[in-house]
Amino acid sequence: TTIELQDLVQLGKIGSGNSGTVLKTLHVPDSRIIAKKSIPVENKPLVKSQLMRELSIMRSVKPHDNIVGFFGAFYTASTSNEIVILMEYMDCGSLDKIMSTYKAFVARGIQSSTENWFSEPVLSKISFAVLNGLLYLYRGYKIIHRDIKPSNVLINSKGCVKICDFGVSKKLINSIADTFVGTSTYMSPERIQGSVYSTKGDVWSLGLMIIELVTGEFPLGGHSDTPEGILDLLQRIVNEPPPRLPPQLPNGLQYSREMFDFVNRCCVKEERERSSLQELLCHDFIEKGRSQGDREFRHWCKRIKKWLKEDKMLRREEQERAKLVK
Ligand code: ATP
Ligand code: MG
Repeated sequence: TTIELQDLVQLGKIGSGNSGTVLKTLHVPDSRIIAKKSIPVENKPLVKSQLMRELSIMRSVKPHDNIVGFFGAFYTASTSNEIVILMEYMDCGSLDKIMSTYKAFVARGIQSSTENWFSEPVLSKISFAVLNGLLYLYRGYKIIHRDIKPSNVLINSKGCVKICDFGVSKKLINSIADTFVGTSTYMSPERIQGSVYSTKGDVWSLGLMIIELVTGEFPLGGHSDTPEGILDLLQRIVNEPPPRLPPQLPNGLQYSREMFDFVNRCCVKEERERSSLQELLCHDFIEKGRSQGDREFRHWCKRIKKWLKEDKMLRREEQERAKLVK
């Protein structure tokens, strides 16, 4: 099905990142909700032709269980200096949103921090989905994702985990400095050093992401958004020992030897020694999760959906109250 921009009605903002804004929209002809991402771009012929080439690669990717559905990309006079990408709407949002919602519940005292929100079976399912999606993109299209991080892993209440935001290179959209501002960097050491890199760069990012989901903190420490702060972080990634899962969580919970080993195999600084996508897909941590079936995971996704709704309501109440106090 092809979707025309004029058939879309804007419903609200989902979020925005460094490069663009994502809106929830209604596709009127079939009452389907879809996500519409707009990314401002420079109006230069060279940028434009490269973009068209990249968008055509995105169009060629066939649907897959672990890749967010793609419904079209536009870059025309009518979209004036922005690319518009239409994609499947994922109603549980991204992992960073889920993480911040959980933190907000803990802060409100509604949720106790002794429950591990990203439990091991959940992390195993998520890891499988990311690896499987990455392998599909690489095997079928020689696409390396390059931007695996919590905000680019999306979940829906049917229990699907999908990756998004591959294909359009960051360098066309922003200058390097802009790209780093406000984000932690999940880039692998070899990529920072400008060596040739492979899908193993995404394996590194997956490792960091799991540590972040477990601990609630980006594992390589904070950085200021000044050029010095960013350089310092990049320098640390290259020169310091790789991050590790802490032996124990603050709430006393422990995880299995398999999970510990899995993360250790992702967070290897030397690209050659780091495990590949295929190797990790056969890892015990993944196998264990797959053998447990999907029922519990689907249940977890449904719970998230409920939480997101509740969080929205609570936020609205909190805002109203703040207004009254004023
Ligand atoms: P960056 O610009 O650094 O990549 P980002 O990934 O957070 O950061 P966007 O890709 O613009 O920025 O996405 C903004 C937010 O919109 C995401 O954090 C995610 O929560 C949400 N989002 C993106 N795509 C979808 C989608 N298809 N369905 C539901 N929510 C989405
Ligand atoms: Mg994104």
